[in-house]
Amino acid sequence: MSEKGIGIGQEEAEKRAIKRRYRALLKVSKNVRTKKDKEKLRKAFDIALEAHKDMRRKSGEPYIYHPLEVARIVAEEIGLGTTSIICALLHDTVEDTEISLEDIERLFGPKERTIIDGLTKLSEVVDYTVSMQAENFRKILLTLSDDVRVILIKLADRLHNMRTLDSMRRDKQLKIASETLYLFSPLAHRLGLYALKTELEDLSLKYTEPEVYDEITTKLKKTKAVRTRFVNQFSVPIVRELKKQKIKFELKGRTKSVYSIFQKMKKKNVNFEEIYDVFAIRIILETQPQNEKALCWNTYSVVTDFYQPNPDRLRDWISTPKANGYESLHTTVMSPGGKWVEVQIRSSRMDEIAEKGYAAHWKYKEGANESSFDLWINKIRELLENPEKDAIEFIDDFKLNLFAEEIFIFTPKGEIRNLPKRASALDFAFEIHSEVGYHCMGAKVNHKLVPLSTQLKSGDQVEIITSKKQKPNESWLDYVITGKAKSKIKSALREDKKRLAEEGKPKVQKWLKKSGIKLNEANMKEILKLYRLPNDHELFYRFSIDRINIKRLDSLIVEKGQIVGKESAPVKQSEFEKQLIQKGKTEEMLVIGEEMDHFDYKIAPCCNPIPGDEVFGFISINEGIKIHKTNCPNAVQLMSNYAYRIVKARWTSQQQIAFLAGIKVTGIDDLGLVNKITQLISEQLNVNMRSISFDSNDGIFEGTIMLYVHDTKHLHKLANQIKGIEGVINVSRIDA
Ligand code: MN
Repeated sequence: MSEKGIGIGQEEAEKRAIKRRYRALLKVSKNVRTKKDKEKLRKAFDIALEAHKDMRRKSGEPYIYHPLEVARIVAEEIGLGTTSIICALLHDTVEDTEISLEDIERLFGPKERTIIDGLTKLSEVVDYTVSMQAENFRKILLTLSDDVRVILIKLADRLHNMRTLDSMRRDKQLKIASETLYLFSPLAHRLGLYALKTELEDLSLKYTEPEVYDEITTKLKKTKAVRTRFVNQFSVPIVRELKKQKIKFELKGRTKSVYSIFQKMKKKNVNFEEIYDVFAIRIILETQPQNEKALCWNTYSVVTDFYQPNPDRLRDWISTPKANGYESLHTTVMSPGGKWVEVQIRSSRMDEIAEKGYAAHWKYKEGANESSFDLWINKIRELLENPEKDAIEFIDDFKLNLFAEEIFIFTPKGEIRNLPKRASALDFAFEIHSEVGYHCMGAKVNHKLVPLSTQLKSGDQVEIITSKKQKPNESWLDYVITGKAKSKIKSALREDKKRLAEEGKPKVQKWLKKSGIKLNEANMKEILKLYRLPNDHELFYRFSIDRINIKRLDSLIVEKGQIVGKESAPVKQSEFEKQLIQKGKTEEMLVIGEEMDHFDYKIAPCCNPIPGDEVFGFISINEGIKIHKTNCPNAVQLMSNYAYRIVKARWTSQQQIAFLAGIKVTGIDDLGLVNKITQLISEQLNVNMRSISFDSNDGIFEGTIMLYVHDTKHLHKLANQIKGIEGVINVSRIDA
């Protein structure tokens, strides 16, 4: 690297480059208009430049490139104003340099101080601690209700760090990328920053699954011409008609992002070739706000004059915008080649909101129409209200709400309420009021009586039937999907449990007295051990609901009221111990940790890695080190929440030891095909199968085979050979 020993010429070149970047920032800062604002911006730049003058990025570049770039993203890609751009320029100064919050307030003002304070605190929890990201995420959301600009600038900061992740160490890359997928892209999504969210996801994929990312991007490039030709042909009649009507518009063909293609391949278990040409066409109309709705519908009419729409796929986000502010008209039409094409119709104003976010557009630009944005912030506050909740559980619930598609439900009086897709009548009851939720008996959906677990559809009119006698029970948790209903039910159940535990306490006391056992700490410890309970509350509660087998108390040896021991029962070997013994021979195959020592490990059952897979070790509490694939469905959550419990792991030599792996085979049903597959596997290739199951439906068969292989190469070879059998359409690996 060249950062050491910079020559005079290079120093000059750098100075010029910094100036150039600053001028570029000015050019895109369209919201910085007055002379005063421009001076303020210059001042912020000078201060940041001076403060970071001796610092460099990991890549060797001058540090100031980073705040300058974050400021440019804030101005150009999110569309924020002067205050935010200034704060972006200064965002790392209080954290990393001599500049204090007091300096910021004196030089700029109280608003700037609050935002930078928020950014500094966030940076402390997000960037410098390695543990418990879920707790941090809650903190992030709390700052969101102070000033959403803190979050927006933080997102810009994260985006630039993701764009420059190349210069980081591999383990750092994995941590930052998985954290981005876990925390930041859902947040960007919820804030309606679609462009930013998509880029964050794609970049995360690039680092967490480099091979997949390369494969999809290469294939996308190769197939580009085909797609362009298709879009052009498809749009010819639409373009001609819109021009004839003198409508100003822009028409774009939009491919799916790399990440969403990958998600779809995984979810539907299909190849790239089967989905690459699924894309949307977007028509952006240039018009005044008062005409935009009519013009969008007019354009819809033009499109459907040429192509038959699918009546089930019409989405009118103009009459009822999404909670994050998204407005657009979507329809899916049949193209002449027999392919469904989604057409999105919107005005340029709607397009700006869709790409850059609602927050940016309204709250800090025009200062008007803040109501629905505030509504959203209020919803988040409600979610945050429950402090007892375990942080990870909280995040999982919250994320559920972040990603959910929305449906609209009407109250009996015709008011509209937003709920996530797949919400139940019970969710709706809690959405109305927690008291309505607690006492919900059932519901009338479109005047018809239904159970409270019924899933609602957009447009349903729902009336909740309550009863004073009704109260929440455990099974309710299976019926609800909103964070609000979940947390309310859980806290009601907790209250209930508390009450029952209190009732159980005197009963336990009586019971111990009868058995001649004194109630003291030492005895309680023994009893909890006997019943394997975490604390005395749990014991009281179990006792109160009659879930304690009193007979087991007889195995205790009691002397003078004190428990002194237990009659020995045969000791059972735990599953973990058994596994350790079984895999004894394989220990040399995997090296773990910085020193790459040999430790005891266990293969995680959720992803079943085999030699050749990229893996990491996770220090579990009870079961030693577990080995997961880096693309395990649980990896993102583990890596971002428990980074401190992650250890490096790498396969060494690939010996002739068999690992269990699963494959899924689909094809056209044909008598004898199953036989051909099993024969190939067991006789020709000499591979042991543990289980095999085939399912046939309307001429299509699907088989799941669990077999023992040596490593990924072995598995790929096998899969290719199975693919070669006539009638087999697809062979893919499954995790468990
Ligand atoms: Mn930064």
